[in-house]
Amino acid sequence: MPPAIESYDAHQILTPGSGYLRDYDYSLNPYVGCAFGCSYCYAAFFAPPERQASWGDWVQVKRNAALKLSRLRRPLDGKTVYMSSATDPYQPIERRLELTRSLLPVLSDRGARLVVQTRSPLVARDIDLLQRFKQVCVNFSITTDSETVRRAFEPRNPPIAARLDAAREIADAGLPVAITMTPLLPVENPTSFAHRVAETGASRFIVESFSPTAGRFRGGTGQTALELAERLNWDGAAYEQARQALIFELAPNIREGEAGFSPG
Ligand code: SF4
Repeated sequence: MPPAIESYDAHQILTPGSGYLRDYDYSLNPYVGCAFGCSYCYAAFFAPPERQASWGDWVQVKRNAALKLSRLRRPLDGKTVYMSSATDPYQPIERRLELTRSLLPVLSDRGARLVVQTRSPLVARDIDLLQRFKQVCVNFSITTDSETVRRAFEPRNPPIAARLDAAREIADAGLPVAITMTPLLPVENPTSFAHRVAETGASRFIVESFSPTAGRFRGGTGQTALELAERLNWDGAAYEQARQALIFELAPNIREGEAGFSPG
């Protein structure tokens, strides 16, 4: 079932970077909520408590985002902006609304340095506008090589092949791409997975451990995912083996955890 869509006027559009994103000047979330509804999503825990259980079933649109951004008095020249920290800026509804697309010229005209974090091939639609930035990077989330695992942990996400193809299209257009394997889900063949992500032309890779903490999972989907992880013997040792293989294959362009996300 498609997510419920609501619109509202946001009070602010840029949030000062902090915590995991402290190396950024701002984070920018054009939407609240996320139709991709990943079972492990940390952003769900920042939603109002009464909406956390239905994470993935609703999306709120900040309909005044472009207006707010264009009216900002503070300078953005050289400032680093991370889009997005608590949603995916390329929600399925973005195809029709073009909200994120409307923000790109405002940011590039004002000299911002942009990192786009997404798992949606729709980002390739905006290559023309992304090319207008002096400094930009598209971080593509690709967390496993297995469609079985993807369907268990990220059932509403685009298929892996579509994400790899879009990452390649963006890299072919001359834009920097990073593949974020965060969190790294169970992987069938870490070495061939490393080759597949490298073949996109991405120049940077980020890996981060998956913490199978039941309390952080969405009901239903989360349980299925945990059972699959157990069936695949995906424990600390398996993660370590996959991590080592990825680092071996992708060195020196792979970083781990928070350090990988720094804008520099
Ligand atoms: S795409 Fe990102 S924000 Fe959306 S549910 Fe998945 S992890 Fe959360």
